[in-house]
Amino acid sequence: MAKTGIFYHESCWREAYKPLIMGLEGGFKGLEKENILSSPNIFLFKSKPAKEEWIAYVHTQNWINYVKDKTGYWRCSLYSIGGIVEATEKVLVGEIDNAFVFAGVGGHHAHRDHAWGGCFFNLEAIAIEYARKHLNTKKFALVDVDTHHADGTTDIFKDDEDVLYICFCGWWSGKKTSGKSKICFTHTNNDEEFLWKIKEKVLPIIGEFKPEIVYLLYGLDTHKASYGTQKITEKCYPKIAKMVKQHADKICGGKLVVMFYGNAPGWVCEYVAPRIVDSLAQLGKYEL
Ligand SMILES: [Zn+2]
Ligand SMILES: [Zn+2]
Repeated sequence: MAKTGIFYHESCWREAYKPLIMGLEGGFKGLEKENILSSPNIFLFKSKPAKEEWIAYVHTQNWINYVKDKTGYWRCSLYSIGGIVEATEKVLVGEIDNAFVFAGVGGHHAHRDHAWGGCFFNLEAIAIEYARKHLNTKKFALVDVDTHHADGTTDIFKDDEDVLYICFCGWWSGKKTSGKSKICFTHTNNDEEFLWKIKEKVLPIIGEFKPEIVYLLYGLDTHKASYGTQKITEKCYPKIAKMVKQHADKICGGKLVVMFYGNAPGWVCEYVAPRIVDSLAQLGKYEL
């Protein structure tokens, strides 16, 4: 069994970006109800607030001040960034094998000096720059299963071939990305097609890239009951986690950080979160 860290703070639910609150609440409730947190190889960490200097690795001071003074999401941003940074650190130093992080705000629509769509700071970019500065890590792969294009992340890393970013945004395919390391796949119509793409297309690309750590970003707005236009069911997401985890075991010693943004109805998140953690920690509680 793998050692899995869960990173959570009440602020990443109560003070979350409003459309995410029900999903985040559902996700954590799912872990409690299914008794996941009592497993001996699951470690619950209370996320700590990020330091402002970490945010400045990626963002301009003007933008940091704006989020702090004008948006109402400063505190939740600090705890969301704190969660992903600590998870990254603990995974990279080997204290845990992988992590599941609750984020109360999005990340991938955040550029260095502006953001939109429920994002304020680019959580994953900050974690990557932290790992580069403090943890001697160079190569990162991100798989983002959200329905929207990661305009912020691909902008921040546009000239950086050591960050592989894979998106399923469809609309932007081939138009908004540069180099070989930013790849947009088309939208998928059903679970089978999504899983096929992950297995046959995405995993080989990650394998060839040879990252030191993999991030799997759960935007869940591809769910048929969420606001995206796709028709993915809740059964699909844990299967993706299982495949990516098994692949990470082969290519980077299982170093994997899962981000959970809760952008689907509460009942979907309640179903999905425990099953993803089950895959990460190899609890074997569910038949996927
Ligand atoms: Zn989205
Ligand atoms: Zn894209």
